[in-house]
Amino acid sequence: PNVIETTDIAKTYVMGAEVIHALRSVSIQIPRGEYVAFMGPSGSGKSTLMNIVGCLDTPSKGQYILNGQDVSRMSDNQLAEVRNKEIGFVFQSFNLLPRASALDNVALPLIYAGLNKRERNERALESLRAVGLADRASHRPNELSGGQRQRVAIARALVNNPSVLLADEPTGALDSKTSHEIMDLFEALYAKGNTIIMVTHEEDIARYAHRIVRLRDGLVESDEVNLQLAVHS
Ligand code: ADP
Ligand code: ADP
Repeated sequence: PNVIETTDIAKTYVMGAEVIHALRSVSIQIPRGEYVAFMGPSGSGKSTLMNIVGCLDTPSKGQYILNGQDVSRMSDNQLAEVRNKEIGFVFQSFNLLPRASALDNVALPLIYAGLNKRERNERALESLRAVGLADRASHRPNELSGGQRQRVAIARALVNNPSVLLADEPTGALDSKTSHEIMDLFEALYAKGNTIIMVTHEEDIARYAHRIVRLRDGLVESDEVNLQLAVHS
């Protein structure tokens, strides 16, 4: 079954007399367990599509079905609820709480899920273990390297078992070696069955995804299996 199905979605911004067509008509199906990269030049609509897929925004037109639910016309409150349950976000800038330990950062989303502290800590530690950082649980972000911080952010994104891991330029703040280590982690998470969508403008990062969707001027320019990867693996 598809986790994500968009049908002819469009997004228009009106700014005074100007109408900006950020997305014109985008139809994408993503089955459970896929690993997809969204690529495209600046202004092509990547952030807009990411915001819609991540339930941070709704389309002006068209339909978006996430895990069987039509989220295209939901209110902000309904959308927030779906988002917390279904989407795990990873950002370029990690977005960790600086004064909280790695464990507390990862456990945070579980407070909203209504688990008690002991359950939260157990689940958070398990999630840190999955990204290879169980031994850094008590460290604060400033005691960790950039790559370790991003691993904490990934553990936080996954702690709720979301339907989709949505990563916006996840290696944008990392050096090349660390970026490739994070991509190796994504590959391991993919192998465990996670559905991953990553937005990137870097070809050598997109190369890790198993499918590449290229946007241009608010349209899908191409949507292809990553043959380069198939050749190497
Ligand atoms: P990308 O992420 O590929 O750079 P965006 O989705 O950010 O592309 O932008 C697509 C187009 O929509 C651009 O022309 C951008 O300026 C415009 N845009 C994006 N967000 C807004 C907004 N909130 N208000 C007005 N225009 C926007
Ligand atoms: P990114 O770093 O992901 O490219 P942007 O700088 O494109 O992010 O966008 C940052 C925020 O500003 C987003 O919420 C986006 O929707 C909004 N935005 C982008 N372009 C415009 C625009 N032309 N006018 C108003 N808001 C915009």
